[in-house]
Amino acid sequence: MFERGDVGAAWTTRYDRLHLHTVRWLSCLPGYRIPRAFGKWPSRDRVLEYLQRYADRMSLSVRAGIEVKRLDRDPAGWKVVTTEGVIEAERVVIATGHSNVPYLPAWSGAFAGEIVHSAQYRNPAPYVGKRVLVVGAGNSGAEIAVDVAEGGAAEVLLAVRTAPSIVRPTRLASQVKCSGSRRRAYLSRSSTGSRARFAASRFPTLRRMVCRRRRGRTPSS
Ligand SMILES: Cc1cc2nc3c(=O)[nH]c(=O)nc-3n(C[C@H](O)[C@H](O)[C@H](O)COP(=O)(O)OP(=O)(O)OC[C@H]3O[C@@H](n4cnc5c(N)ncnc54)[C@H](O)[C@@H]3O)c2cc1C
Repeated sequence: MFERGDVGAAWTTRYDRLHLHTVRWLSCLPGYRIPRAFGKWPSRDRVLEYLQRYADRMSLSVRAGIEVKRLDRDPAGWKVVTTEGVIEAERVVIATGHSNVPYLPAWSGAFAGEIVHSAQYRNPAPYVGKRVLVVGAGNSGAEIAVDVAEGGAAEVLLAVRTAPSIVRPTRLASQVKCSGSRRRAYLSRSSTGSRARFAASRFPTLRRMVCRRRRGRTPSS
């Protein structure tokens, strides 16, 4: 098994505040559960620790620090070209991650501020006293918006296309195992997203609705 970084490399570069958005008992790999002591929503560092423990427990033969540069067909299977040389393999499993190359779309409007992709975000320190616009209220966007608001930003705006469904994690956790219509009904009852709370964008080039919240509050609270 080749890994260009170290075990769990993808988690080492994620923002400091990150906790799993999925509960511990639904987030483990086969054969070894995430320890209860890691909490309901393990932190980034706990996820990393879990992955490292997992590799040890399962005696995975991880060859860290080696990048696969290309794969070529050969009569016996595959020729795997790595930074440490070429090996032959009968079969190859590619598990390089689905979306680990950040995409920053071209910006058509005029914006004088700094634009940062969430993959580059680490903590709120650089944003103390600044006005911050977070685009997108997915898991990362919502958590980063709270992080910069609590971390001392002067003002935080969250831009969304449509009102998001936001559920208090403690309530969702008890419901997450129920399926189908029960879960949908629960979500529509308990999620917030009152459109009345959404004010028109002060950044018209975004052409999105902007939910405005000051310091330390998510749209759900
Ligand atoms: C901010 C954030 C929060 C998330 N929260 C959750 C959550 O709460 N719950 C959840 O289930 N999922 C969550 N995810 C998604 C989760 O991280 C991914 O689904 C998961 O990591 C995918 O695992 P993977 O092994 O397919 O890919 P990755 O974890 O991306 O691992 C791919 C590995 O391949 C290595 N690699 C890539 N290319 C090469 C190469 N050419 N040669 C050698 N090695 C290479 C990389 O270094 C990396 O270690 C989150 C993602 C992000 C960005």
